[in-house]
Amino acid sequence: MADYREMWEKLGLDLAAHDGLLEVLPPLYQESILGQENRPEGMQYFDFVFSEVHGLRIKELVDHRAAGGIVVGTFCTYVPEELILAAGGVCVGLCAGAQVAEEAAEQYLPRNLCALIKSSLGFKLAKVCPYIESCDLLVGETTCDGKKKYYEILDQFQPVHTMELPQRKDEADRRLWREEVRRLAARLEEVAGKKIDEESLRNAARVINEKRKALLRLAELRKCDPPVISGRDALLINQIAFYDDPVRLAEKVNALCDELEERRDQGISIGGSHRPRILLSGCPMAIPNWKVPTIIETSGGLVAMDEMCTGIRYFRHLVDEAAADLEGMLDAIADRYLEIDCAVFTPNRERLEHIRELVRDYDIDAVIYYALQFCDPYTVEAFRVQQELEKERVPFLYLETDYSSEDVGQLTTRVQALIEMVETKRPV
Ligand code: SF4
Ligand code: SF4
Repeated sequence: MADYREMWEKLGLDLAAHDGLLEVLPPLYQESILGQENRPEGMQYFDFVFSEVHGLRIKELVDHRAAGGIVVGTFCTYVPEELILAAGGVCVGLCAGAQVAEEAAEQYLPRNLCALIKSSLGFKLAKVCPYIESCDLLVGETTCDGKKKYYEILDQFQPVHTMELPQRKDEADRRLWREEVRRLAARLEEVAGKKIDEESLRNAARVINEKRKALLRLAELRKCDPPVISGRDALLINQIAFYDDPVRLAEKVNALCDELEERRDQGISIGGSHRPRILLSGCPMAIPNWKVPTIIETSGGLVAMDEMCTGIRYFRHLVDEAAADLEGMLDAIADRYLEIDCAVFTPNRERLEHIRELVRDYDIDAVIYYALQFCDPYTVEAFRVQQELEKERVPFLYLETDYSSEDVGQLTTRVQALIEMVETKRPV
């Protein structure tokens, strides 16, 4: 990596703490991602992006701001990226996938709060995230109670605009959400000093749709058996999709898909004999949280699909680009986001149906449910998911964990037992 120290210093990072973080990432990346065999060549781009995660991409953000643009940080897939892009902004998903400054975060937050929220504040307090420090505005949402209340604290450090997300999907909720989308648009216009018009919004919808279509194309290729891409590489791409340039990302994902199609046609797979196909479902996995997929795939399984926000939930719905005018475009955007089936909704029948669909379409052998400790929406909804899968006789394993590595041995034992059980049951 080039020398970015001056840039990091100007952003206000704590260089010593930041050095510490940068030392931890390469070995973890080697162990979880680079150590895999027979990876497609197209993954080199994503390896490069990751190697420059605090370098080149941050330089692009700095240049964008110097040219008069804004950078907006988000924490959830409910925040419409299209609006940010239409306001001349760059949208960055703020990852929070590692244990950072947990003790410091616990001076503001209760200990028994999910690791994702604690990590998010930890990154801010430790001054080690150049993304959050590059942001002109942070956009939160009233999804779970922990995040909702956390944004009030975060707002003391940096301006946060919090969107009121309804928890049901009736007409009154739709009206509220459409209003919230307009309220965000107005705030972005104010911060950016730029109007969002019909043309910029339609163009932004097209760009983000193209990104999502590319990710959908990749998701289709994950149906191949033998597999042409690992679950870990697919997860890495989805994680990078939250902060990379959307046009470039779509191009690179499409190029990778071209290669994967060729490999499929030539009978080249990422590895040997049949591996139990796992659907990973539950809480999001932000960079560099590869713990559970690594355990699954080094235990002989394949993560064939991820039913989570860092998986198919992020890109399965597209915005209808055909609306007649600006108001129509705003409604189309609001409606697209309201389709998301996060566990914060009630009832959340769509999620159960989608999981059943994925089990069928991806020829899934077992579902592993990944829940972060203290995450009420996902830990509670696990019961309904399990009930639904029992009807279909699909094996289900519930894993509740956090960001520490202390439970790796115990999780591995449970995953291995599931994989062995599935292997003995699957017809040869
Ligand atoms: S799981 Fe729910 S709250 Fe969390 S990022 Fe996804 S949509 Fe947002
Ligand atoms: S993982 Fe659960 S508790 Fe944590 S931020 Fe997401 S929805 Fe909230």
